[in-house]
Amino acid sequence: MPYEGLIAELSNIVGHDNCLSDPADLIIYGYDNSTMAAVADVVVLPNSTTQIIDIVTIANKYKIPIITKGGSTNTCGATVPTLGGIIIATQKLNKIIRIAPNDRYAIVQPGITNSNLQTALKPFNMFWPPDPGSAKTCTIGGNLACNAAGPSSVKYGVTREHVLGLEFITGDGQLIKAGSCTTKSVVGYDLTRLLIGSEGTLGIITEAILKIHPIPEATYSIKANYKCINIATEVITRLMSQDTIPSALELMDAQSLNLMKKNPNLHIPSTSQALLLINISSSAEHIDSDANKIYQILYNNGNCLDICMATNSYDSDKIWQARKLLSPKLKYIAPNKINEDVVVPVSKLPCLIRFIEKLSVKYNLPIVNFGHAGNGNIHVNILINNKDLKQKQDSKICLQQIFTKVLELNGSISGEHGIGLVKSNYIKHEIGIKTINLNKHIKSVFDPNNLLNPQLFANF
Ligand SMILES: Cc1cc2nc3c(=O)[nH]c(=O)nc-3n(C[C@H](O)[C@H](O)[C@H](O)COP(=O)(O)OP(=O)(O)OC[C@H]3O[C@@H](n4cnc5c(N)ncnc54)[C@H](O)[C@@H]3O)c2cc1C
Repeated sequence: MPYEGLIAELSNIVGHDNCLSDPADLIIYGYDNSTMAAVADVVVLPNSTTQIIDIVTIANKYKIPIITKGGSTNTCGATVPTLGGIIIATQKLNKIIRIAPNDRYAIVQPGITNSNLQTALKPFNMFWPPDPGSAKTCTIGGNLACNAAGPSSVKYGVTREHVLGLEFITGDGQLIKAGSCTTKSVVGYDLTRLLIGSEGTLGIITEAILKIHPIPEATYSIKANYKCINIATEVITRLMSQDTIPSALELMDAQSLNLMKKNPNLHIPSTSQALLLINISSSAEHIDSDANKIYQILYNNGNCLDICMATNSYDSDKIWQARKLLSPKLKYIAPNKINEDVVVPVSKLPCLIRFIEKLSVKYNLPIVNFGHAGNGNIHVNILINNKDLKQKQDSKICLQQIFTKVLELNGSISGEHGIGLVKSNYIKHEIGIKTINLNKHIKSVFDPNNLLNPQLFANF
């Protein structure tokens, strides 16, 4: 065993039961929601910041990579240990340190799940806005490291907008505190925001000061069907250019709807080619007028095939059913599907979707588009069978062309999933070599021995 000394030293820090080197355990911690997998040399489950500092010190002694792992729900291979090393699993660092509703912040450890945090905030009538679909499993540490978002980011913004400060450990074991418990502070560089979205490459987050918000008094939902995608996307741009912003604005394209139309419970008109799903959240006093304003835009002078509004949570759930059923359905039809999360300025959505539809015909590949249209963030799902080599090859060409188009439209190749291993080959097309080099310099300051998730930088 190449690292016998290492495992003994790590066991001394976290205890024998929290230091896993059995091959079966290593496999379990070796994959995430990408299609990739690899095994680390050892997995540790620390329960304190001090233990993490000691683990990082040992990693520096052996010059061995460290991969921090939350819920492993990332879809871009950001936690797959292709260079081996130590996996730090944060599941035991799951405490809420303080909830301060009057000052609108909460201090938490990184291993708490998004959903457990929301449950704990509810009695204070508070919530933390980032709402990824994986909320029951993903952790706050993972949300911060991926700058996660979700449907509500159209109104509230993404994780970056809801963090006041962080405590983290650098690659050489220094404990750093950034930010404060206040909503204003201009002291020093904004290291908090630098860490957010850095996919575990700059520091191991051990505590976060999160900005929390009062739960809106009322939420209504609306479902609107259109006979073509152009009308739907025109409605999206109109919605986003006025002052009453929905708290969710999701689009499902014709290919998505074709998969759902056979389900009689979903009531999707046979002629529908695009579906918009909307939430409106407001005070009890303003909800009706806000909802009416949005309803009128969706109704689009009668240019809407079918529209219905729900004013209670039971009916809202029914409205959102189609969206919830779509991802599992796609996974069932095409287990090897490629799922990208490109983003363009909202006004460029029609152009992007038309481009993707043409590619789908040209390469005879089913491509299903849906997602957070209010942010211009579309999940592009290329449904391939990995055993079909031509399909596999064509999907790569398609992907490259989609990324090129997205950049031409002033967009970005990842709206929320991040780069990880999956997209590391494409990053140079978006940020260019000078910016990549600056990123590398920044990393070397935070992590002089290149130990924190080094596999993610290997292809740059
Ligand atoms: C069904 C499903 C739905 C999803 N929906 C959404 C969505 O709506 N919006 C969205 O944005 N994403 C979504 N995702 C992607 C994913 O859930 C998010 O990126 C989430 O934030 C990852 O959190 P995690 O705890 O699973 O992190 P992991 O997958 O464990 O790790 C992700 C990254 O964070 C780093 N990391 C984890 N903890 C720490 C820490 N303490 N310090 C430093 N780095 C750390 C890891 O090293 C890695 O780089 C979805 C995924 C699934 C499977």
